[in-house]
Amino acid sequence: MGVMDDQDLSPEELARYRAGLTARLADLADLETITEANRQPVELDQQSVGRLSRMDALQQQAMAMAAQQRRRNELVKVQAALKRLDDDDFGLCAACGELIPRKRLDIDATIAVCVACAGDR
Ligand SMILES: [Zn+2]
Repeated sequence: MGVMDDQDLSPEELARYRAGLTARLADLADLETITEANRQPVELDQQSVGRLSRMDALQQQAMAMAAQQRRRNELVKVQAALKRLDDDDFGLCAACGELIPRKRLDIDATIAVCVACAGDR
């Protein structure tokens, strides 16, 4: 662990993480708008579409909904990270209160727990 990891995040670093998270939030909001059309209920019109293309359409809709769910999950994580910035809790492990190493935050600024508490890597 480097010396930097033992120090609190500077205002500049916090501003950088906030900018990154805010950009991610905006991207997610954009994607939500773009993909809105893909999630419209599938028209089960026997006349205009055959059975196979209906199955294709249903499959595409299922994939679009899964992608939407992933975006929603990420949105929640990004919003939680921004709230931690507002609350001055950002960069501190939500479980043990220790500083989360910068390297870990740089990989994913929405990470809320340290390596030890995450326990899975
Ligand atoms: Zn921890």
